[in-house]
Amino acid sequence: MEILIKNAYRIITWTEDGLKSFSGDILIEGRVIKKIGKDLNSSSAKIIPGEGKIVIPGLVNTHHHLYQTFQRNLPLTQDSELFPWLKTLYQIWRYLDPEIVYWSALLGMAELLKTGCTTTTDQFYVFPRGAPKDLIDAEIEAGKKIGIRFQPCRGSMSLGESKGGLPPDDVVQDEEEILEDCERLISRYHDPSPFSMLRISLAPCSPFSVSRELLILSQELARKHGVRLHTHLAETKDEEDFCLEKFGMRPLEYLERTGWFGPDVWYAHCIYLNDEELRRIKEAGSKVAHCPTSNMRLGSGVAPIPKMLKMGIEVGLAVDGSASNDSSDMLGELRNCLLVHKLTCGVTSISAAQILQMATVGGARVLGFEEIGTIEPGKAADLVLIDANQIGYAGALSDPLGALIYAGDSHIVDTTIVNGEILVEKGRIVKADEDEIINRANELSRKMLQKAEANSVL
Ligand SMILES: [Zn+2]
Repeated sequence: MEILIKNAYRIITWTEDGLKSFSGDILIEGRVIKKIGKDLNSSSAKIIPGEGKIVIPGLVNTHHHLYQTFQRNLPLTQDSELFPWLKTLYQIWRYLDPEIVYWSALLGMAELLKTGCTTTTDQFYVFPRGAPKDLIDAEIEAGKKIGIRFQPCRGSMSLGESKGGLPPDDVVQDEEEILEDCERLISRYHDPSPFSMLRISLAPCSPFSVSRELLILSQELARKHGVRLHTHLAETKDEEDFCLEKFGMRPLEYLERTGWFGPDVWYAHCIYLNDEELRRIKEAGSKVAHCPTSNMRLGSGVAPIPKMLKMGIEVGLAVDGSASNDSSDMLGELRNCLLVHKLTCGVTSISAAQILQMATVGGARVLGFEEIGTIEPGKAADLVLIDANQIGYAGALSDPLGALIYAGDSHIVDTTIVNGEILVEKGRIVKADEDEIINRANELSRKMLQKAEANSVL
């Protein structure tokens, strides 16, 4: 199928010559951007009028826990820091099943697509004892249904309370079972080819919920299959204290000693790292997923992103799980990122262009997708159209790029195209029924809470 975006008010992208902002047409053929220019024509293409529309590369989300969309805004955890927040939520997450995983993923993905995200990763790591083993398969099914480019991570937890970890024993698995499932998922779903719609990564959860052995075995397995590695790092002071007390070293050193560094590794958060540790990350070529809203919401701290960017560390932006963000609003994440660094590092510390770059090109590099992140001939047709003719952008168009991040009263985009397919049209999801998602989400979220309450664990 061909799509022709005609007379776009602004196309904003990066090229070899840097940031470009211009008006024109974009011709999409199949899953690829074929041509960019003026007065393009095609007799067979579906025409999308570009007048008044700002076109940007699809946003890339580099860290998420989609299953948490059913625990957003939970009063019990509104005022908790990470460790007590997790301990409460484990009591609800033990009721996860494939139906819940499917609908929570569909909800999160719908929100991502509606707010300009075209590629997302997800780290799924809660496998309750007695639940079916194919929970990740359910979110992969949701990704296929709604059409988003997807990089699910096989998360894991193996260090239960009885072994000194944070999670209860009935939501962790043993190492052998975890590694077997990692193998299964890679051989069943991982597609390393260019323009892939689905790549698997391996992602043990955190130093306080997995064993040293699992960290080592997971990175060996990932490297054997050429898949990426992901985990949480230096999210809170509690994590740092845990590692110093249990292992006698800081979190980064612990990960380094288990082989967790290099260009195929990306870490979420990276708040509590000193300059020497940042230098080691840069040297190793490891990458970072920055989650500003979640970090603010849990009072975790502020990652030194302006410093990382100056050092040349690859950083992508991320919404993080919805129990700590309360939404999967990707465009909104850009605004929070801008504001938190201007507040804490100074008003000149970061620009709107740097943030859009992080959320597009940066995210593509973090996840290892060469074909996305810019609007150029030969690249994947993943792009987003935002209607500039809205009350929220009026008066802000002296800088269309800046308008998207500084201004706007809604983050719902007009059109989202992924892999040459229109997935959001006039702000509505095309391949799933929004009302059905809303109803199922409210019903299943309520059921999970009721079960936890009935068992008097909350
Ligand atoms: Zn996370």
